[in-house]
Amino acid sequence: MPSYDIPTEQWAQVLEKTGGPVVYKKIPVPKPGPDEVLINVKYSGVCHTDLHAVMGDWPLATKIPLVGGHEGAGVVVARGELVSDIEIGDHAGIKWLHGSCLSCSYCQNADEPLCAKALMSGYTVDGSFQQYATAKAAHVARIPKHVSLEAVAPVLCAGITVYKGLKESGARPGQYVAIVGAGGGLGNMAIQYAKAMGLHPIAIDAGDDKAKSCKELGASAFIDFSKTKDIVADVKAATPDGLGPHAVILLAVSEKPFQQATEYVRSRGVVVCIGLPANAFLKAPVFDTVIRMIQIKGSYVGNRADTAEALDFFEQGLIKCPYKTVGLSELQNIYDMMHDMKVVGRYVVDTSR
Ligand code: NAD
Ligand code: ZN
Repeated sequence: MPSYDIPTEQWAQVLEKTGGPVVYKKIPVPKPGPDEVLINVKYSGVCHTDLHAVMGDWPLATKIPLVGGHEGAGVVVARGELVSDIEIGDHAGIKWLHGSCLSCSYCQNADEPLCAKALMSGYTVDGSFQQYATAKAAHVARIPKHVSLEAVAPVLCAGITVYKGLKESGARPGQYVAIVGAGGGLGNMAIQYAKAMGLHPIAIDAGDDKAKSCKELGASAFIDFSKTKDIVADVKAATPDGLGPHAVILLAVSEKPFQQATEYVRSRGVVVCIGLPANAFLKAPVFDTVIRMIQIKGSYVGNRADTAEALDFFEQGLIKCPYKTVGLSELQNIYDMMHDMKVVGRYVVDTSR
């Protein structure tokens, strides 16, 4: 087993008060508990959830001070005395679900994200925007050594979440699925997972840069919500029989599409809510929902098996999403761009700079 020199101090981005900004500073390197590993985080994706945490958008308080981040890919450099199934030197991923009780009825049935005692990386415990992070060994993603840690980082939240959402939609190969917010981090991944699962993704977002990226990733159509005069007609027209998509995956960070989706989904279709805009509500006409037999459901990250499956798609070379890498020191700039909806796809931060 290799051994690593672990420093006592490290660089991190720290949220000191809700609303931000984050502060790039040196903090102590944490020590792993008995059931934990210490991961030398090399790269971390930046998810809109991290920005929601900074802004205090949700009815759930974060830890303060907080180190955000939950798409961290790195190397296991130390482990607690109870950890035996992951070795020093192995590659591992920090994902949103940091830990769960492993004994409640949800954990027993592999619905760990629903555990009442679930811990969330970069929200209720410190996450991956630091050079060394602790993680529960039972929940870390196992990353094969030949896979690029930089490219795989966005799979650890965005990939797992959209893969799970597509499974929850029940859409089958050959069917059409609308991806709302397709130009963002989750959206780009959703196009690729949908393609890999034999589905036809219809991308919805705004702007020429996002249109270009969605088409390059394989969307069968792109609908610009900022330009269309009739989004319902346009989405239906993007399916060969004009009846609308079989499923809608809602990844947008605004409320409006959550109200529109049932209007263009096909009868018997499934609307899967994943995006978490602040203070948003779902609304749909009861009459249409009943007589068109529409399902509306939520989907929340994925369990350990979903994680392994989502990583397997990536390892097979089926998921190729472009990303931009910048230094961890530039995290606040990414948040500013994300706030203005200017981020196309995903940003990854390199913790060494
Ligand atoms: P992102 O900022 O990269 O992308 C969001 C996209 O939504 C942007 O491209 C934006 O232009 C687009 N958008 C905004 N309004 C729209 C509209 N009216 N119609 C269509 N598109 C619209 O964000 P992300 O990192 O992809 O995250 C998306 C959302 O998913 C966030 O709210 C995040 O918190 C949430 N999320 C949920 C889960 C879960 O488990 N349910 C997991 C991860 C992220
Ligand atoms: Zn996320």
